[in-house]
Order: sequence, then structure tokens, then C-alpha cells
Amino acid sequence: MTSGRRLALGIDLGGTNARVAVVDAATGALVAVRKEPLAEKGPQPVARAVAALAKAVAAEAKVELAALGTAGVGVAGQCLGLTGIVVNAPNLGWRNVAFGGMLSGALGQPVRVTNDLSAAAVGEHAFGAAKGASDALVVFVGSGVGAGLILGGRLHEGAYGVAGELGHVKVRPIKPDQKGRFCGCGEWSCLEAYAGGVHVAARVREDVNAGLADRVKALAGDDAGISAATVEAAYEDGDLYARELWGEIGELLGTAIANAATLLNPARVVLGGGVLRGCPHLARIVRAHVMDKTARASRAGVEVVSAELGDDAGLVGAALLPR
Ligand SMILES: [Zn+2]
Repeated sequence: MTSGRRLALGIDLGGTNARVAVVDAATGALVAVRKEPLAEKGPQPVARAVAALAKAVAAEAKVELAALGTAGVGVAGQCLGLTGIVVNAPNLGWRNVAFGGMLSGALGQPVRVTNDLSAAAVGEHAFGAAKGASDALVVFVGSGVGAGLILGGRLHEGAYGVAGELGHVKVRPIKPDQKGRFCGCGEWSCLEAYAGGVHVAARVREDVNAGLADRVKALAGDDAGISAATVEAAYEDGDLYARELWGEIGELLGTAIANAATLLNPARVVLGGGVLRGCPHLARIVRAHVMDKTARASRAGVEVVSAELGDDAGLVGAALLPR
């Protein structure tokens, strides 16, 4: 029934949902997949919920959990490599949680934990936009900002597992009195605090309430309707506020990515995530800054491309992690 297929278990743990899939490791196809909102965000309830989903997808794929071997998990947070410890996951409210051990206990199987963007980079490298590239920088801009690094054909996690945290490079002065913005990681003036979708919406709400963004306000209807997509729609209308905001955020993102490309000399820069996918004007500005600001020697060979696996990149990559 499973002959000829190499099946693996992939888990994508975001801030609001868990997705779990049995993945065909040879093709990246999702053989069985389930998604569930996280009703309780405590580590133990999450571990139990994920384990229940894993058992359900294994049953659906007609395979024993034990036959799937080590499960791979991508977590939206900073993870200490092979230890399974999640150092900081702002959207889950976790600090220094030994999640790998908890999930392994609930599953009855070993698990391998990494950052969700590292998992996405593995997925895009195996089956998506980074396929065949020896070195790739994969950047996703969604609710947050993250990057995964493929260097020398392999996932690069750094000495302690937290390499690639592009969302937390500092792009403004870091003292509170210097009016930087506060990031969910607990530090000031991170790129994510400016460019992550959650932070864009929060900032635009402030500006709407200060009477600075009337076009966005009209398009959004109310505070809850404000998002990066509303700014994109206002930009489309030629709104000056939206043009200035996208100009600023596009420059911050594009400059950070260009600097990373100068440092790493990737063959491909892969751009993805809900905000870049849903905001083509912003994405265009980001790309222009990447091409303008990557140092000439690194720029010559680099291709800037769009991610291809969408929301499945992290799930597929997680399944491949232990291999
Ligand atoms: Zn941060």
C-alpha cells in the first residue's frame, strides 16, 4: 500500500494554526494533511493537539506513525537547533520551551525542531523555487519576517540553530526614546517591527487614528479591516500615504535582503509569504532595492524569484528535515 513511496511526517506550527501532513518525500506531495486552529497555546496542549493530528493523518494515509520515523517540525519562532528548545515564539507566547521533548513524548516518536523559515527553505530547495541552487536565501514576509539559508546545498542553522533571523536585524536606532518600533521578540527596531504584516496593520491603525491615512481608513471601513492589503489598495489608487509607507518599508526590506545577499552570495533569492504575495506594488519596490543595493560582485549572478510552494513550503520542508 505504501510500496515505492518514502513517507515522512511534517508539522508546521504557526502562531494560530497547526498543520500536519504525511508527505511523499520523493515528490513533495501531501498524501494526507490536516489543519487546526490552536485553541490553547500552552506548550503541553499544543503538543497534545499536534500529536492527535499526526495520528489522524497517519491513519488517513494508512501508515503506522512508527513507520514515518523522526517527525520534522517547523515552529514560528527562534529554535535552538537539535535541542528541540524553542527560545522565543512571540505569537505562541513561548520563551525557552523544551517543545521537542514534549511533542516526542506525546507522539511516541523522535522529533526534529527548527524555525519555520528554515523548514520553508528546505521545502523550496527540494521542490520549489530554490531547486538546484547550491546557495539560496529564502525570505518570507507574512505576519512576521523570516529567512532560511541554504548554503553549500544544505540548510544552514548556525552554531546554535538561530541563523537566518533576518526579521530581527535592526534597521533603526534601538533605544525606546529614539522612537524605534518594538518587536514581538522583545527588542527594539527589528525589521519585522516595520515590515511584518501584524506590525504594518498596527502602525497603520495608529496613523488612521491620528488622521494621517484617510484613504486607507475609507477602504478598510473599520480598525479590524486594516491590513497590508488595504495599504496596497490605497497605493493602487495613487494615495500619497500608501506610497510613502510602501516606499519606506520596501526600502527597509530590500536593503536588508540586499545586504544579506552581499554577505552570502546566493545563486537565488526566493521571496514569498502572504504580504509579498498579496502586495505586488510592495514586492516590486523590494525587488528594485535588492537589485540596486546588492554589491555588484554578488549581484551579477543572483536571480530574484518568487516562492513556488506557497503555504506548503514549511510543511514539506519540515517532513524532509530529519533526512
Ligand atoms: Zn525582533
